[in-house]
Amino acid sequence: MSTAKTRLYGVIGWPVEHSWSPAIQSAALSALGVDATYLAFAVHPESLGAAIEGARALGIQGLNVTIPHKERVDLFLDEVDEAAHAIGAVNTIVREGEQLIGTNTDAAGLVRSLEEAGCAVDGARALVLGAGGAARAAVHGLKSAGARVEVAARRPGPARALGRSFGVEAMTLDDVSFESVDLLVQATSATMGADAIAFAEALPLDSLPTHATVVDLVYTPRETTVLRAARARGLATVEGVGMLVWQAALALERWLGRPAPIDVMREAAEGAASMRSGEKSARSGPDP
Ligand code: NDP
Repeated sequence: MSTAKTRLYGVIGWPVEHSWSPAIQSAALSALGVDATYLAFAVHPESLGAAIEGARALGIQGLNVTIPHKERVDLFLDEVDEAAHAIGAVNTIVREGEQLIGTNTDAAGLVRSLEEAGCAVDGARALVLGAGGAARAAVHGLKSAGARVEVAARRPGPARALGRSFGVEAMTLDDVSFESVDLLVQATSATMGADAIAFAEALPLDSLPTHATVVDLVYTPRETTVLRAARARGLATVEGVGMLVWQAALALERWLGRPAPIDVMREAAEGAASMRSGEKSARSGPDP
């Protein structure tokens, strides 16, 4: 039962009803015995500023931010940290006194999920596919963790822009070579759409070294066409659900200042995934 002391957290997005965050974060708050409620708020893009002012006035302690607000919510915050600034997106809002601070836990979440899977990131040659928000987070996270990063996207303009903003080499998917890549990061939305099979078939996965790891940030479906093809070649693979769970865990740790119950959160994500498996995966949102 909630009381006047119950702390309020939530996720803002549009749409937000398919978000896994309420299941993952509520399970974690409950396991930790925190007197808190976590809600999903459907916030129309035109109401974003009003929603943040409302959160401020209502004393909401923390928010996750999902599409389409990640790139614009900084306008309404008091400060954004280095990660959110570099990536150009906020996925977590932390209340510090009267201040609302924007941060981004996607980048570190990816790195934690790779480390958890036993994949060495420091010193690895990493190739990131895509030039959208997930690719930006991946490049920032991998670079910060000591990887040598390159990016490849289908259109030269966005590839070049991403390469310039992070100081990494950029190319188009047509020009890409997978030889000597230690870590392949699939960060496009192609593997959740109608092009998923053709996209995977067009990738030169055969030329990846046998020690390479392949991660797909897409988590609906969990086994994407790219992961399936990589597994068929005997390569190590990491599912995008790991990044999803870790970005949530790192957000919770920022709010509470204590370790997140990662196993509980993973289990809640598994539960959300199996509930989702009966639905059409194409309807699911791309992030928290
Ligand atoms: P964006 O819409 O910002 O970017 C999508 C990218 O995918 C663009 O570079 C786009 O290229 C490219 N793309 C789409 N279709 C194709 C295709 N058929 N062939 C080649 N490139 C293609 O999306 P996000 O970056 O925010 O998200 C990407 C995916 O990452 C999402 O689908 C989501 O599942 C996943 N994600 C997972 C997270 C996690 O925690 N695991 C967190 C965030 C995202 P173009 O610009 O040319 O259209």
